[in-house]
Amino acid sequence: MSAFDADYFDGRSSRRHPVRAEATGGLLRVAGESIALEAALPDLRFLPRVGGTPLRIALPDGGLLVATDFNAVDAAVGVPLETDLAHRMESHARIVAAALAFIVGLGVFGYYYGIPWAADRIADRLPYEAETALSGDFMDAIDRAFFEPSKLEAARREDLKADFQALVAASGLPASTRVEFRVSKLLGANAVAIPGGTVIMTDALVKPMTDAEVVGVMAHELGHLKRRHGLRVVIGGSLYAVLSFTFLGDAGALASLASTAPQIIVQSGYSRDYEREADAYAVDLLRAAGRPPGDYAAALEALSRIVHKDGERRGSEWTYLSSHPDLAERIERAREAK
Ligand SMILES: [Zn+2]
Repeated sequence: MSAFDADYFDGRSSRRHPVRAEATGGLLRVAGESIALEAALPDLRFLPRVGGTPLRIALPDGGLLVATDFNAVDAAVGVPLETDLAHRMESHARIVAAALAFIVGLGVFGYYYGIPWAADRIADRLPYEAETALSGDFMDAIDRAFFEPSKLEAARREDLKADFQALVAASGLPASTRVEFRVSKLLGANAVAIPGGTVIMTDALVKPMTDAEVVGVMAHELGHLKRRHGLRVVIGGSLYAVLSFTFLGDAGALASLASTAPQIIVQSGYSRDYEREADAYAVDLLRAAGRPPGDYAAALEALSRIVHKDGERRGSEWTYLSSHPDLAERIERAREAK
């Protein structure tokens, strides 16, 4: 058998002509009521098909043959394998798999490296004024969540504020950068740098320290502000939330960000890299402010003593140490940096 039934469309009207097609001597002869044409077999063009849809054969004159009996057509003219779209996909399965792996890989890479990278770039380009505008909201949220007014003597607070402003001047940070003293049952002996230019120090941290040691801790917190670590965390968090929202439809991530960002900064602290950066900065800043850079190692040692005692006393699930785990190693490095 080298013939098959088909419908012929002339390409000019939508009219269907039932025809019989027969392959002989390298030609396909198509015949039906008022239809008689022929085409060389190599000039036939098989259009891609999906699954069990009819075969469509384009003729050189612009007409189209539509046939449902695959086997008959195949026997008559030999249907090229790649006509089958599913087959084509299968033959490219490796390429498809590789493409999928690439896309997934890109997503994972973007999540772990792209977002921090983008957050850094955005943070670097954001003017300090924009960050300062954030500060008020953060302070309100954090104050409500964590803090009560300080009970330090007013005179000591004023002295320390003056020391702080001298450090700020040496750091090149905006003069609006300020230090606040608070009491926090939850955070115990602690210091926190809030994006926008506020450093919070708790009474439990300040009271047992000498002024020089407090200034050392201030220098470290100013390092977090100078290197814009808080802002990076907030922007990174926003990007993660936006990404989660885009890909996972997780609107909750977006909605809760505004309320959780300050908590993230206060409770989980910064990455080790950020801590290292702030440590190195603290030593440089003390030197730039005309203070003994060795004060920084002394401040960390005092901090270590205080937070250990503080943690024991409170039996707290959360202490300064849980956000600054490698204190001993950092003291070592600060000693070397003198
Ligand atoms: Zn820190």
